[in-house]
Amino acid sequence: MALVVCCALSAFAQRRERVVDTWRPLHYDVKLVFDQQLSQLEQASTEITGLILKDNIEAIDLDFGALEIDSVVTENRQAGFERKPGEVLTVSLGRPTRVGDRFNITITYHGRPKDGLIFANDRDGKPSATGDNWPNRVHHWIPCLDHPSAKATATFTVVAPPRESVVANGKFMYMTRNGAAHSVWRFEETKPIPAYCMVVAVSEGARLDATEPTVTPLSYYVPRRDRVYAPKGFSPAAPALAFFSTTIAPYPYEKLALIVGATRFGGMENSSAIVFSNTLFDLRRNEKLSRRFGVPDRIESVVAHEIAHQWFGDSVTESTWADLWLSEGFATYFAGLFIEKYDGRDAFREYMRGAAERYFNYEKQQNTPLHDTETQDLMKLLNENNYEKGAWVLHMLRRRLGDDAFFRGLRAYYNAHRDGNATTEDLRKALEKSSEKPLGEFFARWVYQSGHPVYEMASKVSKLGGRGREVTILLKQTQQGAAFLDPVPVEITSGREKRWIIIQPKGKEETSKIRVRSGAMSIRVDPDQTLLKEVVIRQQAN
Ligand SMILES: [Zn+2]
Repeated sequence: MALVVCCALSAFAQRRERVVDTWRPLHYDVKLVFDQQLSQLEQASTEITGLILKDNIEAIDLDFGALEIDSVVTENRQAGFERKPGEVLTVSLGRPTRVGDRFNITITYHGRPKDGLIFANDRDGKPSATGDNWPNRVHHWIPCLDHPSAKATATFTVVAPPRESVVANGKFMYMTRNGAAHSVWRFEETKPIPAYCMVVAVSEGARLDATEPTVTPLSYYVPRRDRVYAPKGFSPAAPALAFFSTTIAPYPYEKLALIVGATRFGGMENSSAIVFSNTLFDLRRNEKLSRRFGVPDRIESVVAHEIAHQWFGDSVTESTWADLWLSEGFATYFAGLFIEKYDGRDAFREYMRGAAERYFNYEKQQNTPLHDTETQDLMKLLNENNYEKGAWVLHMLRRRLGDDAFFRGLRAYYNAHRDGNATTEDLRKALEKSSEKPLGEFFARWVYQSGHPVYEMASKVSKLGGRGREVTILLKQTQQGAAFLDPVPVEITSGREKRWIIIQPKGKEETSKIRVRSGAMSIRVDPDQTLLKEVVIRQQAN
């Protein structure tokens, strides 16, 4: 298998990941008390309920940043703990454990996290606090197992000054006002979510409820200056929720809050509480507008992208960072499908062409497989491989398998891994089952190896007896690495005659012959863009 070869060659450079091994978190009960100035956590506590996965585990390694710890308690007793390099907090359980045992650890702490929970003035100049955790920054404010394989449910109790409004993952349970001093807010997320999707957002901005019909309660939390534009800016949200619900499965969470706030990304897909960049609604000059929604294409695609993540990334989460394309490639492609449905086929083709161009530019600098087990800096995985090439791999699978088998396979994949984790192999198997076609070769070349086909095409016309001619087509692949064995559609126009052939490469050079009647001739490789490829046409010899 190609996969084995690739791992063997590069074993020394494998990225080590903090995957679930000896224990897994089941639930985080997070309590945060903000100070009056909204400048730090006056007090905080997280109770972790976990499950033991191996016998005789004596201590639990948590990820936790530099905040000062006030106490660590397990089973109602003070627990021994040690802070280790690499932001690890080891807590002694103080008893023998067996597989299947549950444990509780409560850590009480305070201070201003150096990352993950961002304290910043919002666009109205008012203080705000916003969680922003991708890929593994949540442990700066919530002690946890900070890896996407460790999904857990979570509850948040937030004490904040009464002028603030608070939103977090999950269902809003209550808000009580305690005199003029503070308010207490509680949210409960009953679905297991990835650690990087745990969020709390505190601000003095405006809260608006969507007025159109929606599949889940939908509201917007924006700085006051954005309150007039927000309903229009977020107008693609309700149709995106409806479209993905019918295309994949019902919306996975209890509500959806769309927040404009502090994130270092264009948008961050926290489960049921998406945070968009502060500049989302800053309209730029000469921006191209969506025909359907009248908002810049940029806003439409990022809103659809982050909403698609609620299914792919949040509900079905990548098992390792090498599987990140199952999150980013899906969100990128589903934003494209949304554009295809609402703005039409031409807009979709343009979207996919733009994606291909960005990937080609990236690939000139950086040649790594989509399933990337080596890149050490996780931020560098936010690249055109995981987004644009990932989207194109899905597009090619759709074209190859047909809409029916493709979407049936995706629904089966989603339902099998909903609220859990999935690997690239899980996706391959689901699509093989729905299409009854083997996809090992496709995944080996497109996903586990790097690059894309660069076709160089030359053709020669020879006269046959009578008026017929024969066109010989030589299709070479000049990219580094192995050949792509995907069928290549070629369109030959000769006079008024249009012929199609499908070249089925068996290696890096393939010769095909086709008869045409006569006349001047033009040849196009894959004019319907079923493949992520570059094409060089050599001078045609007549
Ligand atoms: Zn994304």
